[in-house]
Amino acid sequence: MTQDRIKIAVQKSGRLTEHCLELLQQCGLKYSRGRDQLIGYGENMPVDFLLVRDDDIPGLVRDDVCDLGICGLNVLEEKRLAYARKGVEEPFKVLQKLDYGHCRLAFAYPEGSDLKSVSDLNGQTIATSYPRIVEDYLQKNNLNASVVEFSGAVEIAPSLGRAELICDLVSTGATLTANRLVEGETILESVACLVQTPVDIPEEKTEWVNRLVERIKGVQEVRGSKYIMMHAPRSALTEITDLLPGAESPTVLPLEEADGKVAVHVVCRENVFWSTLEDLKKAGASSILVLPIEKMLA
Ligand code: ATP
Ligand code: ZN
Repeated sequence: MTQDRIKIAVQKSGRLTEHCLELLQQCGLKYSRGRDQLIGYGENMPVDFLLVRDDDIPGLVRDDVCDLGICGLNVLEEKRLAYARKGVEEPFKVLQKLDYGHCRLAFAYPEGSDLKSVSDLNGQTIATSYPRIVEDYLQKNNLNASVVEFSGAVEIAPSLGRAELICDLVSTGATLTANRLVEGETILESVACLVQTPVDIPEEKTEWVNRLVERIKGVQEVRGSKYIMMHAPRSALTEITDLLPGAESPTVLPLEEADGKVAVHVVCRENVFWSTLEDLKKAGASSILVLPIEKMLA
């Protein structure tokens, strides 16, 4: 790895790994990586990636070992609070929320216990892997509970007698149910985020850092967008654009030999559901096509 190459930290093996590597590939990166190697070397761009534990990503970005990193907001927030306690403000810049890694940090109460909501928390002990986020929440809400840190398997803490309740990451809730816990209030909605070092990027790297960031943003936009084409009576144009979610102003083309009918082409910034197509048809549209978009550059 030479100094003028961009380094991006991603999770080595876990829930974010596949999504991160796919995202980099969609940005055009071709890389080589030997089995068990902790570095992926970009072959067609001056971009390499480091495969590390997600907990190490904020520190690598903060210390400028990596220019960029991808990691859950839950981990970023926990580390940000830890840095803040040491007097370090803005340890990294959050550039973009990504469209994967969705989960929430939520309280969970044992089934059948008297504890049902945060108003019952005073004097209780909460087990969590995110002690600083939980303490911050308690403080902001004037709640007086203790926090015990667990690095994993938080959900067994109540049955071990180590805590009365937990605060942990949830996506489907299946793990909670399996451990006879009932989900309560969410204190943080989390998603994978792209972060950048707080240090100024050296000039020789800025062009490629900016390019990579723009491409990541482009990939994100494309994934949520669709290109829609249809025929419609000109008189129904307003109704039709109102029906399309996140649509930009449509391109309207006259149709030969079809009186009063036009072809409408439009980019929708959101997914389009069957019900929307049915509504479009009711409004007079026909020959409706929904196409995926491969690349987009604003
Ligand atoms: P590492 O070995 O890198 O420390 P880990 O066990 O801390 O891995 P994973 O379980 O792979 O991490 O989760 C990585 C991230 O995925 C979490 O920090 C969170 O942002 C996100 N995530 C999404 N859904 C869930 C979920 N149901 N449980 C835990 N994390 C989730
Ligand atoms: Zn971790």
